[in-house]
Order: sequence, then C-alpha cells, then structure tokens
Amino acid sequence: MFVRFLRPNNLSQKMMRVIFSIYMVVTLVITSVQFLSEYLKTQAVIVGELQQLEVTVRGPISTSLWQYDQNQLDVITDGLVQMPIIEGVEVFDKNAQNIISKTFDVDSSVPLSIFDSKLELNRTLNGERIPLGTLVLYSSSGVVLDRVWFGFALIAFTAFIKLTILFWLFIWAFDRYLATPLKELMSQVNEVQLSQGISKRIHLSNTENNELSQLQEHMNSMLAAMSSDRKRLIEDEQAKRSWLEDAVAKRTEDLQALNKKLKYLATRDSLTNILNRGSFFDAAQQRLALSQRQESTVSFILMDLDYFKRINDSYGHFVGDKVLIHFTQTLQGFLRKTDLLGRVGGEEFAILLFDTKLDDASQLAEKICQAISHSALEVEGNTISYTVSLGVESSELSDTSIDELFKRADLKLYGAKDKGRDRVES
Ligand code: GH3
Ligand code: MG
Ligand code: MG
Repeated sequence: MFVRFLRPNNLSQKMMRVIFSIYMVVTLVITSVQFLSEYLKTQAVIVGELQQLEVTVRGPISTSLWQYDQNQLDVITDGLVQMPIIEGVEVFDKNAQNIISKTFDVDSSVPLSIFDSKLELNRTLNGERIPLGTLVLYSSSGVVLDRVWFGFALIAFTAFIKLTILFWLFIWAFDRYLATPLKELMSQVNEVQLSQGISKRIHLSNTENNELSQLQEHMNSMLAAMSSDRKRLIEDEQAKRSWLEDAVAKRTEDLQALNKKLKYLATRDSLTNILNRGSFFDAAQQRLALSQRQESTVSFILMDLDYFKRINDSYGHFVGDKVLIHFTQTLQGFLRKTDLLGRVGGEEFAILLFDTKLDDASQLAEKICQAISHSALEVEGNTISYTVSLGVESSELSDTSIDELFKRADLKLYGAKDKGRDRVES
C-alpha cells in the first residue's frame, strides 16, 4: 500500500498523496516555529537568570574593585564560571580595560551562538555614584538547547505520531470513500460493457447521495437511452429486413414466372403456338430414345402445304399466316396428349406419334389429308381452300437419332409431291 501511495496510478491515491504532502509541509513549518519560539523563550529566561546573578554578585565585585582586591575578584568570578548557565565572565574597569576574562571552557561542542548580559558596577559615596566598571556574563545556545531538548523531542515525537496516524487515516478514508466505490463503479461499467445486455444497469452498494450516486444515475439514464435507441434500431432493422425479404420473395416469384414464360416462349413458335423446330426435335429425340428402350415404335409424319407460295402471292402474307394457324388447329383436333406437334419450317410441320406403328400413322395421315382438302376458311371475304402433302415413316430398332427418321420421312414427302401433291406417302 505504501508503494502504491508513492507511485499512484489512480485518482484517489494521487489526491491522497497531494493532501498528505501538503499536510506534512504544514506540520514541518508549524513544528519549526514551535521549536524557534521555545528556543527564544528559554533564551530570554536564561538572560533573566544572568541578570539576577549579576545583581547578586554586584556588591562583592564592586567592593573588590573598590579595594583593588584581585584575589577576591578571582574567587568570585571562578565561582560564577562554574555555574551551568554561565559560559564566561568578563570584568572591565571604568576605563573599559579588561581586568578579568574567564572565558568559557570551549570544547568540541562549539556553541551555536553566544549571548550576554551587562551590568554597570558603581559605588555610592556621600550620595555620589562613582562608576567602577562593567560586569559581563556570557551564556550560549548550548545552554539553551540543554534546557529545551526534552521539549523539542516531545514536539518532534508528537508530530511524528500525528503524521503516522494521519497517514493511515488518509489511506483508510480515501480507500473507503473514494477508491473502493470508484473500483466498484469501474467493475460494474466493465460488466455492462461485457454483457452487451440492453437491460443491464449500475447498482452501487453505497446508497449515500453524493457525486458517485449522481454519476450512477446519469450513467443509468444514459444506458436506458442507449438501450431504447438500440431496441428501436433493432426493430427498424427487423422491419426493413422483413420488407426486403418480402420484396425479394415477390421479385423471385416474378422472375420465376417470367423465366417460365421465357422458357415456354423459347420452345414455341410465335405464330402457331406449337413447338418450334429446335424443341420439337429435342422432345422427339427423347421420345425415340424412350421408345427404343421400351422396344416400341414411334411414327413420324412430315407435312408440307401445297403451293403455299401461291396463297401468299394471291392473298398476301397475312392470309398465308391465317392458313398456317388454321392448319395447326385442324391438326390438333387429331392428336393425343402424348403426340408431339411442331413447326419445322415455313409451311412444314411434323408429328411424332408415340407407341404407334406405321399403319396407324398412315391412317391418321390420310385423315389429316382428307380433312384439310375438304376444309375451307374465310379470310377477309375470301374462301380459301388448300391441300397438304404428307410423308410417313416409323422407327426401326437401329434408329438412334430422330434425324434419320426425319430424313426418311422427308424422302416420302418428296415422293408425295412428285406424285401430284394432296396425298400421303408411307
Ligand atoms: P410446294 O407445293 O412445292 O411445297 O410449293 P410451295 O409454294 O408451298 O413451296 P415453296 O417452298 O416454294 O414456298 C413456300 C412458301 O411459304 C414460301 C414462303 O414465302 C412461305 N412462307 C414460309 N413461312 C411463312 C410464314 O410464316 N407465313 C407466310 N404467310 N408464308 C410463309
Ligand atoms: Mg416447303
Ligand atoms: Mg409447300
């Protein structure tokens, strides 16, 4: 604790050191003043005692001087020098000539200072004062210190005891009223920081109303404000997140629908809404592979409208388009769910019949051919009739690619064209 006091690393100990240092300086000054006043008082007492001695020996010394009795003078002055408070005696005659000088017995302990007391010696004769000389008695600080040392020691000892007691009292008081509550406050602030909890508050064990309890109140209201801010932020964030999640889900749903639509559109012919060439051949290839595994037969009907160019040339492309749509719709009336229908060229169409042999496929082709040649459509006041040529082919066990089937059906279709059109070649 003492080392901590000398090298403070916190506020309370620093304050304690400052206050204690000031107290120590003040005590030193007061004690020094006490020493000085005690010294001066004792010196004054000694001077008073010297004066009393001078008065006492004035008579015999004056008589000796009057009678020029040197022996008696020596005896008296020797006696005086023996006295503890006297360090020396000097006697001067009326002409200020030194007659006797019994200096003090100066030894190793040199006195700090010397002081004296003088007394005029005279004799009264017939009412007249006759000056005889001067008596000077010397004393020294050594004598003063001899007298006051006990008092000094007592003052110093008292000051030391006071300092020691106060030092430990300061330490106890600062520790009890400042360092401990501050430590408690700091550890609770640390706990709040570590817990990250929004409901955690500071509760000091000292319930007195002082700066620390006010600080606790301020910190707690600051924590309350922070926790409500944080709560609001979390709520805001949650609301934003759920809004964002909803928006993302909605956007994903839209995109999925769009994607589905795009996929559908990518597989379809825009005019007739049946499979386009690419997707027809992909699907037909899969059907062929499946039927080969199942050792069944698929049939392929390839169709080409006859003299379609003439329809375009006679009635225009718009009417030609209507004919293509009409043809498609007529075909759809003949097909099962498992059959594939696709537009494989400008006015070329194909049907893949699943699990269907050549005869059945040929019959269906005949029906289609008949239906078309007997049909007519009204467009913009024109009655249009048209015919179609069809080539029919069925899969063989060696067929691995739909292209082979297509090529064979195409040859049949050419055959139908060659033979005058509006017919089925199988
Ligand atoms: P053939 O009996 O020999 O098949 O004679 P054709 O006139 O039908 O044969 P050709 O190949 O000479 O003509 C096909 C025509 O089909 C040419 C083209 O302008 C037309 N055509 C192709 N696609 C479309 C389309 O989407 N709409 C319209 N209106 N006409 C198309
Ligand atoms: Mg053609
Ligand atoms: Mg044609």
